[in-house]
Amino acid sequence: MAEKKWVYLFNEVEEAEKYTGSWDGVRGLLGGKGANLAEMTRIDVPVPPFFTVTTEACNAFLASGNKFPKGMWEQSMKALESVEKASRKKFGDSTNPLLVSCRSGAKMSMPGMMDTVLNIGLNDETAKGLVKITDNERFVYDAYRRLIAMFGAVVLGIKDKKFEEMLEEVKKAKGAEADTDLTAEDLKELVEKFKKIVKSEKGFDFPQDPIEQMRLATEAVFSSWNVKRAVDYRKAANIPDDLGTAVNIVTMVFGNSGWESGTGVAFTRNPSTGEKKLFGEYLLNAQGEDVVAGIRNAEKIETMGEKLPDAYKQFLDITQKLESHYREMQDVEFTIENKRLWMLQTRNGKRTASAAVKIAVDMTNEGVISKEEAVNRVSPEQVDTLLHPQFLGDTLQEAKKAGKQFATGVNASPGAAVGQIYFDADTAERMAKEEKQDVIMVRPFTKPDDVHGMLASKGILTSEGGATSHAAVVARQFGVPCVVGAAMVHIDMNKRQLEANSVIVKEGEWISVDGGTGEAFVGKIDMTAPSLEEQTDLMTLLSWADDICAQPGIRDVPEGWPTTGLQVWANADYPKDARRARSYGAKGIGLCRTEHMFFEQERLPIVQRMILAKTSEKRVKAINELLPHQRSDFEGLFEAMDGYPVIIRLIDPPLHEFLPSEESLLEEVVTMRVKGETDGLAEKESLLESVRSMHESNPMMGLRGIRLSIVMPEIVEMQVRAIFEAAANMKLKGVDAKPEVMIPLTGHVNELNYIQPRLIEIAKQVMKEKKIEFGYKFGTMIEIPRAALTAGEIAEVAEFFSFGTNDLTQMTFGYSRDDAERNFLVTYVEKGILPKNPFQSVDTDGVGRLMAMSVKEGRETRTNLEVGICGEHGGDPASIEFCHTIGQNYVSCSPFRVPVARLAAAHAALKYAPKK
Ligand code: PEP
Ligand code: MG
Repeated sequence: MAEKKWVYLFNEVEEAEKYTGSWDGVRGLLGGKGANLAEMTRIDVPVPPFFTVTTEACNAFLASGNKFPKGMWEQSMKALESVEKASRKKFGDSTNPLLVSCRSGAKMSMPGMMDTVLNIGLNDETAKGLVKITDNERFVYDAYRRLIAMFGAVVLGIKDKKFEEMLEEVKKAKGAEADTDLTAEDLKELVEKFKKIVKSEKGFDFPQDPIEQMRLATEAVFSSWNVKRAVDYRKAANIPDDLGTAVNIVTMVFGNSGWESGTGVAFTRNPSTGEKKLFGEYLLNAQGEDVVAGIRNAEKIETMGEKLPDAYKQFLDITQKLESHYREMQDVEFTIENKRLWMLQTRNGKRTASAAVKIAVDMTNEGVISKEEAVNRVSPEQVDTLLHPQFLGDTLQEAKKAGKQFATGVNASPGAAVGQIYFDADTAERMAKEEKQDVIMVRPFTKPDDVHGMLASKGILTSEGGATSHAAVVARQFGVPCVVGAAMVHIDMNKRQLEANSVIVKEGEWISVDGGTGEAFVGKIDMTAPSLEEQTDLMTLLSWADDICAQPGIRDVPEGWPTTGLQVWANADYPKDARRARSYGAKGIGLCRTEHMFFEQERLPIVQRMILAKTSEKRVKAINELLPHQRSDFEGLFEAMDGYPVIIRLIDPPLHEFLPSEESLLEEVVTMRVKGETDGLAEKESLLESVRSMHESNPMMGLRGIRLSIVMPEIVEMQVRAIFEAAANMKLKGVDAKPEVMIPLTGHVNELNYIQPRLIEIAKQVMKEKKIEFGYKFGTMIEIPRAALTAGEIAEVAEFFSFGTNDLTQMTFGYSRDDAERNFLVTYVEKGILPKNPFQSVDTDGVGRLMAMSVKEGRETRTNLEVGICGEHGGDPASIEFCHTIGQNYVSCSPFRVPVARLAAAHAALKYAPKK
């Protein structure tokens, strides 16, 4: 049997394709970086010769307690020979030495999370040889000192601060401002000092054997898959832990070999705004890490044409070629060595949410991708980010006038954030998680070790670095507002305060940052929700999402079921919510919780009178007072949703929710008695008595929902009258009202049989009175497991179902929805007992089974049964996908989540669309 192939050469991408069967498989095997380097080689983009050790080798290495799998190292050595041939250099040779980098690269890009070592192959001998060839002693020792520092930190685990401090010390002693001011002699001295650091920290010498260097670096890169920051990042980005990283051994090309050399990073479109214009930075006479780390201030890519015109022109051609080849915005790294351009990496570029939308829409309009691809390229989380708060226009101006602005930097990741500042990632994370503070992390610059603090923060401010610095890239990806490179900010870690333009802000004090403009202010500034209407690209994308869902045949379902995708409706109690929902694209109201209207100031006393009435006569009197209020609420809803269905739910909560609590009443009564106050005492005492008589041990499972309607029908009779009078009035005004009456908490068909016909009678009666007829529906919520189990029977009466997944989850798990999250659910999720919080995302195995069964058995009784969801899960993308798969007609969620839900519904439709 042929030996397992652990190593692929630069020209072996086809073999990888054959082995894995797909491009996705190649990326999985060689990692994104390795796969793209190989692909670039295949399409004739200049890439230095290299080989890739597979992710399978990494996984085998990690699984066997850090041992290379059999044959891997031998294959690497063979591949090295081929690289030597292609580069016409020899590894470890003192006359013509080959140097290589050892780079990590997982399937999904995890910028800066794992390790890289450059300049492997340099030692005291090869350094001398390289000096002879290049006639550039300064460059060689610059590369050598970088190797020792990187190797020391990454492979040997020495704190990089040790090397940084030594560099600063030497610079100071030599009077050098920038690294580039150091001479060859200075750098030679630095090399010796760095070697001493290794010796004193580790007790052995920096390894001089190049093969040993490569072996140790490979091991270190494999192991870096499991370092904390990489694990944290994967968790946040939903990247599986078992992918492993590949190792790429790539011929070094040198951007630091003089002023006709350089290095840079660029995006083929602007990653902040999405504008179709090359965006990037470069540095002459520097190595790649200098740009990415944001340590030296880089120059804008546009100016490279003046310095290195030929290489720049070639670079423009290549970036265009790469974008059209991948049909996606690319993020590239390049190096120019003595005027010769080399591409070191290309990948799909990370971008802000608004850039993602703009690029997807632009590329569709340019004819590069389809509308479906555009919709699939934007995530629900990105849409969510775009609806995040911004500063109110005026408040920002006022803050400026009041002199509150203390710093300006690069607008790295848009969005507004207000929070208390902390100067290190651990404290930031702790304050956010344990103290529940809104936190803004302030750092000179960030490194991959800081990611946990960044993720816990509402915003980030750094004093160094540019638009492609680590802080900027990570913040953009996770939608955290971020300002970088605010150079006027001086951070004093001893005093734990920052100073900028004579303003001092101490740790724990509040600031506001605007990642869209790059400004930072002392104190808190008011924020506002952005309007969807102004975001025209997003509106376009969402309209494409709606078109996808509206296509008949996009869903493969049993005969008679809806073959279009899901519609998105909204939960809205008031006309103003309904108007917002409609403007956000809702195609109906899936839940109006009528009892919310009872809580309004002038209504609550009437409601209380109604509840406490001792006779039916008195109750009806109070109820009749409520009727006009309810009617006008409903008129507003029908008007706002003209032409769309409006589901109005009859009263649901237990009545005690409308009365004062027993404790507070008792306290008042006792106080009055003690003080001898008699005025009003008798009323209070009688109220207390009523409250006590209505007390239930488990009110959530008590007299509420349909049970209340059966015991005390006057309330729902009034509500139905109000609904139909409102609908009739609106119809007479020319509004297309589509009322649907929803009965909550049904558990047995007989409950519906008892109440629904009486209510329908009232509906008919009102239409007769108003001399108008129109369509309507009566239906029920499915939120009690027994209802789900007997859905077939219930559908004989109910014309529609709406899953109340808040209650259905509560009752199916037997978890109190009011207490579980506080008491044990968080622990359950942390310990992996439950994969997710079932009150946020439908538990598909349990609650979901009940739902699927209800749809199926409900439609067996009534084929055209309308089915939706109105629990909190209706706005959760994973739950929306589930609702699509079980054949629901719509999901209903809060107005703010409607845009996200529209996109999620389209994603589900595309994912499960029948293959053409
Ligand atoms: C539900 O139970 O999911 C529901 C929508 O009703 P409520 O939250 O009002 O009980
Ligand atoms: Mg409910």
